[in-house]
Amino acid sequence: MPVNEPAPQPQAAGINGAGWPYDPRVSIVETQALTQRFGSTVALDALDLRMQPGVTGLVGANGAGKTTLLNAMLGLRIPTSGSLTVLGYDPQRAGHRLRANVGFAPERNVLPDEMRAVDFVRHLAEVQGLPRGEARNRASDTLWLVGLGEERLRTLGTMSTGQRQRVKLAQAIASDPKLVLLDEPTDGLDPVQRSEMLALIGQISRDFSISVVLSSHQLEEVERVCDNIVALDAGRLVACGPISDLVGAGDGITLELVDVAEPAGSVDAVEAALRAGGLDVRRHEATLALRGAAFEDLCDRSRDAVAAAGARIRRLETRRRTLEDLFEDAAR
Ligand code: ATP
Repeated sequence: MPVNEPAPQPQAAGINGAGWPYDPRVSIVETQALTQRFGSTVALDALDLRMQPGVTGLVGANGAGKTTLLNAMLGLRIPTSGSLTVLGYDPQRAGHRLRANVGFAPERNVLPDEMRAVDFVRHLAEVQGLPRGEARNRASDTLWLVGLGEERLRTLGTMSTGQRQRVKLAQAIASDPKLVLLDEPTDGLDPVQRSEMLALIGQISRDFSISVVLSSHQLEEVERVCDNIVALDAGRLVACGPISDLVGAGDGITLELVDVAEPAGSVDAVEAALRAGGLDVRRHEATLALRGAAFEDLCDRSRDAVAAAGARIRRLETRRRTLEDLFEDAAR
């Protein structure tokens, strides 16, 4: 929906409730030339983007502008210029109403150590507008949902990092939002905990039709769970759209060589020959990612270069386009 059209008017306290005129064809977030400066730093550089319903990965390296964009979406900062709507609302003009309908889990450790998990989640649900009794029930339900039912009476200070991340997720969804913003929700988790957290986020989005914006600098985990991507690099938009359009399809080949001692430098020779033939070659140790010609042509040229260099092939396969490629292409 163009940002200058009238914003939809919520008719019920909980936007997942029957009164919310939610239209899945409407973008959940839209920006036009959105710019945020901090002195000489351009944290967001004239962003034009649309986020669709589902799970959106907001990706970029440290300092890319992810947290700044999330803060703008919550109405916590006035943008230097440009415009932004979230669920059709301008966060500056309808910030209070919007925040009551958007869940948020910040990156920082903001949990009060002395408080019990259930009291913390209940309190925030009440702050977001739920009546006390309903907030109590929702706090308990959401803690069970995130796998902390047995732990709900424990104080937050006694919980592990993984449990605290789950509490942050529980409070973000407790007031029945249509959209939740999760800032680095897998930060500090080990690989198993990361997978569990991502699976949980995917399940919550699917089962409760909650759209999620998930910020992360872990490209591989975002590829696993997200439907859509917004990729930022130093405040600029690198890519925006469905992940199926941006990554995954066959994109060249991966050629892994056996780094044989004789003749010395055989991998270097293969790399040099393929580059000289005009191919796009990216090398990591003895593995070459090749693009720039049709699949069969890439295979033929690899075979010839390997034979000429006296090298040996360990693996040759179709290469998937990854999120990392998006950033590398943008940097060229
Ligand atoms: P991280 O993953 O490290 O949190 P990020 O992608 O969330 O990174 P932001 O925190 O949005 O990045 O920061 C974007 C840029 O804006 C950085 O250069 C940061 O130093 C700068 N920045 C953010 N907030 C402020 C502020 N309040 N004052 C000055 N500079 C800021």
